[in-house]
Amino acid sequence: MNMLLVGLALVSCEGAAFSSEYRISGASQSVTDAQALLSRVTRLPTAFLDIMGSEGNHERITSHILTPEEREMVRQSLTALAPLQQRVMLQHLASISFADGMPNSALTYPAKGRPGFFNITIRAGVLHETVSQLLNHKENACFAHENPGSRVVIDAGRMPALTYILLHESTHVVDASIGLTLDTAKRRGLDKPIGEFGQGVWVDWKNPVPAYASAALQVGCYHHGGKDADISAAPVVYQALAGTPFPSLYATASEHEYIAELTAYSALSQRFHQPYTITVYLNDVPVYKLNPMKDALVRAQVSKTRIFYGTMGDSSMSSGKTW
Ligand SMILES: [Zn+2]
Repeated sequence: MNMLLVGLALVSCEGAAFSSEYRISGASQSVTDAQALLSRVTRLPTAFLDIMGSEGNHERITSHILTPEEREMVRQSLTALAPLQQRVMLQHLASISFADGMPNSALTYPAKGRPGFFNITIRAGVLHETVSQLLNHKENACFAHENPGSRVVIDAGRMPALTYILLHESTHVVDASIGLTLDTAKRRGLDKPIGEFGQGVWVDWKNPVPAYASAALQVGCYHHGGKDADISAAPVVYQALAGTPFPSLYATASEHEYIAELTAYSALSQRFHQPYTITVYLNDVPVYKLNPMKDALVRAQVSKTRIFYGTMGDSSMSSGKTW
């Protein structure tokens, strides 16, 4: 299921921390479920090392054993998941693991020998980054630039990057388990995807409808066969993004990434009231600024994420069926 192979750029780290304002007070079930999910933290599965080995990265990747403080960070980030994400993760998550030396930020992939179950592996450095730090390193890796005054600056607040990562990756688990995308719905034999997130946005899992299939968005870092982009092209890229329902450039990569990004940014914006702006600087001059979550086309899609906070998925999960 290469749709679940998540490629995020390598980033460096600097202190992210949960403050009490980000905790979900009174959500007792959320806390209980988070504790149960925390018990799924393991060493790296062999399936992960097999994937990395096939990509030539096996040698330098090692299991990261969480310190007590890091373990508490993981627990808190798990409480930030939506009820549907927590329920499906409890049903379908085989393990969460952390890796030192991992080239990407996170990977969700099928658990070996356990059909319907998934592993999530996260680069250990993510534990000590903020959302903004993670996104800035990832996004700037998309554009060639030599002048440090020419860059993309994303302000997505100072919540732990781990929270964003878990919101995103757990959505992949939900998608693969209950069928949120055209692709996974078809695999599950559904007439249409649950939530109908892609309706009017995607023709199939990798092709948006013509209105949103701008060539400017085919940036190589997120699209196989896409073009390498220079920072001078960034204003055109983000202007093209502004006319779409995609909340981020990464959301253009596939319908799977679109739903994961939409769900993650909706939670950060709506529940945790985080800022989210993308500003392009050329020679230290801000030349274009985008606030995706205030875009009417994106906002129209955000309402679909309400299914993550209702009872969707309960009936099919209570059947005990594994997918
Ligand atoms: Zn993803």
